Amino acid sequence: MAYLTINFKSYKHNLDYLAQKAGGKDRLFVVFKDNAYGHGIEEMAPLAVAIGIQQAVTKDVKEAIKIKPFFQKILILMEPHPQNALVDDRLIYTASDLNALEKFPQNTNIHLKIDTSMGRNGILPHELKLAFDLISKRELNLSGVFTHYYGADIIGSDFYVQQHIWKNVKQETKILAKKYNLNLIYHSRNSAALLRTDSMDDEYSRVGIASYGYTELDSSFGTFPLKPTLSLWAEKLNTRTLKKGEKVGYGGRFIASKDMIVSSYDIGYGDGFFRLSGEKNLSIKNGKNILGTLSMDCMSVQGDDDIICVFDNVTSVAKHFDTISYEILVKMSPFLKRVVLHQTSN
Ligand SMILES: *Cc1c(COP(=O)(O)O)cnc(C)c1O
Repeated sequence: MAYLTINFKSYKHNLDYLAQKAGGKDRLFVVFKDNAYGHGIEEMAPLAVAIGIQQAVTKDVKEAIKIKPFFQKILILMEPHPQNALVDDRLIYTASDLNALEKFPQNTNIHLKIDTSMGRNGILPHELKLAFDLISKRELNLSGVFTHYYGADIIGSDFYVQQHIWKNVKQETKILAKKYNLNLIYHSRNSAALLRTDSMDDEYSRVGIASYGYTELDSSFGTFPLKPTLSLWAEKLNTRTLKKGEKVGYGGRFIASKDMIVSSYDIGYGDGFFRLSGEKNLSIKNGKNILGTLSMDCMSVQGDDDIICVFDNVTSVAKHFDTISYEILVKMSPFLKRVVLHQTSN
């Protein structure tokens, strides 16, 4: 059966590096949303803890509950029904608009998300006073304020403009925190922002993609010592000899130019690997091309190895499909078995 391996040493290497940039492991929130970017949230949580991480971020409360025993604090990014929020020492909900502040139950732990020009969600800078009033009136437990950068991985001024807005937000909320006698933490940096900036006072960082070994930052920002942590493996279903001129797969898109040995393997787009159309070549780790179109549950490759590594780095796969590393990773089916490797290092 096809499976994924998680390289613990690479993961540790990435988190150690990021912690050093962030000012310590206690300054990191590791982002585990969407099944830990496809790596497997339940497999990754104990690894992060073993490395010394105490704080995590999840998409929703369902994910947060899965890893609650492991972390002291879990920031939940989305809650479409704030009135149903759980009051729990370890769970912190994101308050993304004034409406949510009206609905969270009394004593809910929250962080305020501020829209510093991403334009999706978040309290607007001119609503801050109102928000703090509401939080006080509704007796919500505010312990942090954060924002998200939309332009940290692009070249241009966007990132600097947003940082400037954030700086003003911090100043204003520090005054409000004093007025309401609140002890707040601040966080703004995602992977790209952390990689490209050095000290940001005592700010916390929320790292996703870089912890898994990738960055989409342009190479003009430098190179970063990150190691991909996830590999995809497939097992052989059968082997056959194709005669010159014979075809492989739907549409007959691959035609053998000579007699060749071909095997099929148990990975397909049903397992979350993107569907290959067969028009452009994509090779697996050993350099051999995937032949023709990718089926729902299998693919064909020249040779007869019993087990093949489909990828141990998704950079070229993402390029092939004109997307980003995030998307290739996150699509990995939750039904694939995850095996943690403790010894190997790449
Ligand atoms: C996904 C996400 C992150 C992590 O982003 P990366 O680019 O993967 O580091 C951080 N903060 C928020 C609010 C997010 O949604």
